[in-house]
Amino acid sequence: MCGIVGYIGHREAYPIILKGLKRLEYRGYDSAGVALYDGNTINLCKTKGKVEALETKVKTQIATKGTIGIGHTRWATHGVPNDTNSHPHVSNSGNLVIIHNGIIENYESLKKELIKRGYNFASDTDTEVLVNLIEDVQKNQNTKLGKAVQIALNQVIGAYAIAVFDKKKPNEIVTAKLGSPLAIGIGDNEFFIASDASPFIEYTNNAIYLEDEEMAIIRRGKDIKIRKIKNDSIVAPYIQQLQINLEQIEKGGYDHFMLKEIYEQPNAILDTFRGRLLSKDAIIKMAGIEDNMKKFLNAKRIIIVACGTSWHAGLVSEYTFENLTRTPVEVEYASEFRYRNPVINEDDIVIAISQSGETADTLAAIKLAKAKGAFVFGVCNVVGSSIAREAHAGAYTHAGPEIGVASTKAFTTQITVLTLIALRLARAKGTISSTDFRHHLIELELIPEKVKKALQSDAYIKVVSEIYKDSKNVLYLGRGYNFPVALEGALKLKEISYIHAEGYPAAEMKHGPIALIDENMPIVVIATKKGHYEKVVSNIQEIKSRKGKIIGIVTEGDTSVKDLADHVIEVPETLEPLTPLLTTIPLQLLSYHIAVMLNKNVDQPRNLAKSVTVE
Ligand code: GLU
Repeated sequence: MCGIVGYIGHREAYPIILKGLKRLEYRGYDSAGVALYDGNTINLCKTKGKVEALETKVKTQIATKGTIGIGHTRWATHGVPNDTNSHPHVSNSGNLVIIHNGIIENYESLKKELIKRGYNFASDTDTEVLVNLIEDVQKNQNTKLGKAVQIALNQVIGAYAIAVFDKKKPNEIVTAKLGSPLAIGIGDNEFFIASDASPFIEYTNNAIYLEDEEMAIIRRGKDIKIRKIKNDSIVAPYIQQLQINLEQIEKGGYDHFMLKEIYEQPNAILDTFRGRLLSKDAIIKMAGIEDNMKKFLNAKRIIIVACGTSWHAGLVSEYTFENLTRTPVEVEYASEFRYRNPVINEDDIVIAISQSGETADTLAAIKLAKAKGAFVFGVCNVVGSSIAREAHAGAYTHAGPEIGVASTKAFTTQITVLTLIALRLARAKGTISSTDFRHHLIELELIPEKVKKALQSDAYIKVVSEIYKDSKNVLYLGRGYNFPVALEGALKLKEISYIHAEGYPAAEMKHGPIALIDENMPIVVIATKKGHYEKVVSNIQEIKSRKGKIIGIVTEGDTSVKDLADHVIEVPETLEPLTPLLTTIPLQLLSYHIAVMLNKNVDQPRNLAKSVTVE
């Protein structure tokens, strides 16, 4: 996820682009860049770091004249954040310049082809491949820019929102979208292009939101032409009148970043397996695993180190790895592991999980494991982060920036990545049959749609939240794969509503927590059909006899729990290892609504920080 801005009209483009990039920084802040055309030259400036760093660099390095320009604030997916990998990217001839938000899945094969045809690449990005592909089409087929973009995009697999212009035709910007957002602001003889409307809201309320697989040719002083990328058919522009303010736009119309991020999960999960999961061919492709397959296959043990929510994702994966790959797994709090003088062997694999990739304790645990000769694999969201650099290999979650301090999409995308790894290894080890493997891939592909379905219970969860918002304690229970989900549900509630909550394995309840149960005690029980269902139902009976209030998270169509529980929230059915991806959703929403009702600062809860860089 990153922010893109473009302008073509009668004003100076730079101040509009710069201000717009600052507003889009919530979408990514690894690096920033701008390209302006002054009538003769494309003035390009890019830098690692925030938009502020770009502003400083521009002052000393380029002329800022020009009424056409594009700018970018990056959340790296391909290539570390540095000056060269920053956008905009320029084609080999120096004529085309592009900004891109998204992932070109098949960039490697396209790049190979282009290299054969004599193209050079300065960066490691997928985006530089796209701009040269467009140039190649333009040259070989002698087409206009719009047509070349269309032909090139028809060869591309992946997601994109792009804006590109040609120095030789400086009265036109071509944009296109698939999977990433793109808004076009329509002013008086001027046009604005952006990831959301925040960069242009003070200039115009009129906006077109491109649909997936649409492209727009925007000409200075003329109309916008919208076409379908696939079949070239013309689309009549639908102009909306915007009536929201700046803050609402940045939060995508949601009241809080946390809620926005909860709702982003279907796409975030999709982005996580984009290009890695090919269910048609029954393949999982992850470079970090393929390149080190021998190490993984020879590993006697996997040790997962993490903190907080990432530790919970690690616990879920313990079930997945042991179940699918039959490799023993231990999950450790990084802060305990590093000080415990742990036994680490050279044939251990240490998997370190951290959203930010900067968690101090996890970083220290990695260093310790490396010193003892173990192979370290990082699972991070932030590209080029300290853990990503320190680990021997790794896989990114590609969840996009997570702004809310309470982690949501980071958790589900971590589980997604770890599930992909477990499945790939199981296939290589032969501990999963090909039919089962394929079945898991197909089910995993359905998860984004199922998460969407789980999100539909939001209104009902709000009703339930209202009933329990004044509780002093809440208990969360689950078994198997859903035990870590219970821990995560309790953590979410604690973090943002400051209500005391505990997560427990459902069967452990009778060894202590059952003493807490009375008619004032709400108990959230995850009781999905797959995963010791009957046993959990017995636990629910035990709670019922002690008059506890039961909120059941159940599989669609369940009737048994419905009869016993005070409230049930349904999630779609899926394979057991994938249930945490669905059962987590209502728990996130429950804590969110309770915190909002209690007037808490949901996005920045007291005493917490997004990235814990102290030990
Ligand atoms: N894939 C592009 C890059 O890594 C764009 C990243 C994005 O959209 O966040 O530069």
